[in-house]
Amino acid sequence: SVLRTSMEGSTMPKSPKVEKGLKGTSDKRSDKDFIFGKLIGEGSFSSVYLAKDIHTDLEYAVKVCDKDHIRKEKKVEYIIREKDVMNILNSKQNPKAPFFVKLYYAFQGATKLYFVMTYCKYGELLNLIQRVGFFDRECTRFYTAEIVRALEHLHSLNIIHRDLKPENILLDEDMHIKITDFGCAKILTDDNVEAINDGRKRKSSFVGTAQYVSPELLDSKTCGPGSDLWALGCIIYQMVSGLPPFRSKSEYFIYQKILKLEYDFPDGFCEVAKDLVQKLLVIKSEDRLGAKDKECYPSIRAHPLFNGLDFDSLHEITPPKVA
Ligand code: ATP
Repeated sequence: SVLRTSMEGSTMPKSPKVEKGLKGTSDKRSDKDFIFGKLIGEGSFSSVYLAKDIHTDLEYAVKVCDKDHIRKEKKVEYIIREKDVMNILNSKQNPKAPFFVKLYYAFQGATKLYFVMTYCKYGELLNLIQRVGFFDRECTRFYTAEIVRALEHLHSLNIIHRDLKPENILLDEDMHIKITDFGCAKILTDDNVEAINDGRKRKSSFVGTAQYVSPELLDSKTCGPGSDLWALGCIIYQMVSGLPPFRSKSEYFIYQKILKLEYDFPDGFCEVAKDLVQKLLVIKSEDRLGAKDKECYPSIRAHPLFNGLDFDSLHEITPPKVA
């Protein structure tokens, strides 16, 4: 196969897992089909470049990972999961919720893996919050609504993101959100969906990013869609105040605060946003706003923060200017 041939001549040990995990990805493109431009950013085992498709002139963000490094760091599962989730999102798109970074092509060379994705020109939501300090009510309402709309779609596909945070929410050329980084996501099977519905939850050894991790993950190592709703509460708090609610000098102390729901609102915190945060940052995941909704999140949509907002046309609206 093309993939096999591309591995030949390599001095790297072959990993059946990497090969198998990438099977089924498009081999219609190779690194020769792109002109690589500036380095956009670097992760712990990947570099992301701006690149142009020589056939179409379209720009993409191309994530390049070194196979050997991935094997050494034991990140093979992570990469495969990221690709699997992005493929599900590609095949089950919702035109009213186009709020996900799209994977256009995935291919490999002798030593590297390439993921060709939507280029999000305006970078991370985190950088935007840090640049302006905090969001006004209109921007908080708009960006919260887009995240809610994205979570409705993701959860309807039985996918939990598990590492939702402002670094993983990117902004495209129109300043709409695109959620990324699905390496930690959980694809629920029928069996564990049932377990979540009837209160038996799935055990997992995974813990996401300290500031946004839900108490159930820390406490009983279980997680469900409610874990993303918890993270949403943390993100709304951060948009309004500039910082996440649970902060401390070490992860250990952050976890203690989360488990005790120990946080407070600074003076002047928008009252209506505060009400929503308080309804999401609830220790018992089943008591979080939206947790009992069967389809989409009507109880979140009905919150006064969103009065008058049409959740189904968010993608067509020009986002409010963040100043
Ligand atoms: P780690 O893997 O260590 O958790 P990470 O997830 O940030 O880090 P990458 O996914 O490789 O690692 O991303 C590296 C950088 O590139 C990040 O700063 C990210 O914001 C940026 N980036 C990633 N994907 C895109 C994209 N589609 N468009 C624009 N920038 C992107």
